[in-house]
Amino acid sequence: MKKTFNPFLMAQEQFLKAAKKMNLDENIINILKEPQEALEVSIPIKTDSGKVKVFKGYRVHHNNARGPYKGGIRYHPNVTLEEVKALAMWMTWKCAVVGIPFGGAKGGVVCNPKQMSRREKEALTREYTRRMINFIGPLKDIPAPDVYTDSQVMAWIMDEYNKYTGNTTLGVVTGKPLAIGGSEGRHASTGKGLTVVVQEALKYLEMKPENTTAVIQGYGNLGHIAAEEMYKMGIKIIAVSDSKGGIYNPKGLNPLKVESFKQKTGSVVGFPDAKKITNEKLLQLKTDVLAPCALENVITSENASKIKAKIIAEGANGPTTPEAEKILLKKNVLIFPDILANAGGVVVSYFEWVQDMQGYFWELDEIHAKLDKIMTKAFWNVVDMAEKHKTDFRTAAYIFAIQKVAEAIEKRE
Ligand code: GLU
Repeated sequence: MKKTFNPFLMAQEQFLKAAKKMNLDENIINILKEPQEALEVSIPIKTDSGKVKVFKGYRVHHNNARGPYKGGIRYHPNVTLEEVKALAMWMTWKCAVVGIPFGGAKGGVVCNPKQMSRREKEALTREYTRRMINFIGPLKDIPAPDVYTDSQVMAWIMDEYNKYTGNTTLGVVTGKPLAIGGSEGRHASTGKGLTVVVQEALKYLEMKPENTTAVIQGYGNLGHIAAEEMYKMGIKIIAVSDSKGGIYNPKGLNPLKVESFKQKTGSVVGFPDAKKITNEKLLQLKTDVLAPCALENVITSENASKIKAKIIAEGANGPTTPEAEKILLKKNVLIFPDILANAGGVVVSYFEWVQDMQGYFWELDEIHAKLDKIMTKAFWNVVDMAEKHKTDFRTAAYIFAIQKVAEAIEKRE
């Protein structure tokens, strides 16, 4: 029988592995293994048919020892409290790995935005915001986009929050449209950050981008930008996929053309000059880099032994289960974990928040230079930690992050 997947147990397992390796104080373990608080709300909205539908929503605060809580909001039919708890914990580590002064939070609403009208999404977002009004704030908890939420959703949250406070507080959410305090470069930041990690990983392995192949699973905001950025670096993108399936061409795909095809048709599937491939087969292709850029639980104990990639760069949060990771580490696959590899998004969210709080906005090249510097430094910090503790990169990233959070807790005591 297939084991049901619980992302929070997975996050706790990863945490406890690192905590053991670094001999973390038991009191700190007890504090950090659970979120500090969790809010569960019911969100009634009138649908276009006139019927009232009630949606379940969550916001979880994992830890704020290093700064205000920070993390995205996900709209997806499979959202659960356990998933949001895991994602909130990963945000705590992510912010600490890249050294930005935030704690970890996450939100989610169980809904299918693909089947909702714009009016319904707006009503849902505004009602969800009202129910979270005392849980968020620019110095308390700052939401951002995540799976199936975008800058428009952030604009509604900001507007609703400001109706309540009577002020124009830009820094209550990040990932906003440029017209209302958004930052240059935020939209592409997660994909760019992932590419910096891949670039440094190739340097670490003394591999040249022009002799490197990559496979990207997921072609949303993150996947397609990562594909385009890696392509610009000279990496050959041999396969990409979205929720409808994948495409493969061993001679290489042009991600810009794939994206414009997807814009027109709604999927990468059917792209001319490429073979159709299932998502499952795509993960098993012979490639240097494999970047899962969609959801959790994609690389599992069932497919890990068939994976032929040398490097896994986790664009998604939680794509590799601990059982799969054990199998992959035995095969010497290098896994650059989510809490490092997809941190580019929250790094530019931090820049957005700083700009909002200062009321002074930066140019795109400044954003890119600062993002590059932070991601590169974080990468080598993790590599150094892995060498010091003779461990894998995920555990090394956790040790680095946990030390920072534990230090903050101790100093505040
Ligand atoms: N949702 C993104 C993540 O998982 C971004 C979070 C943020 O910018 O606060 O990292």
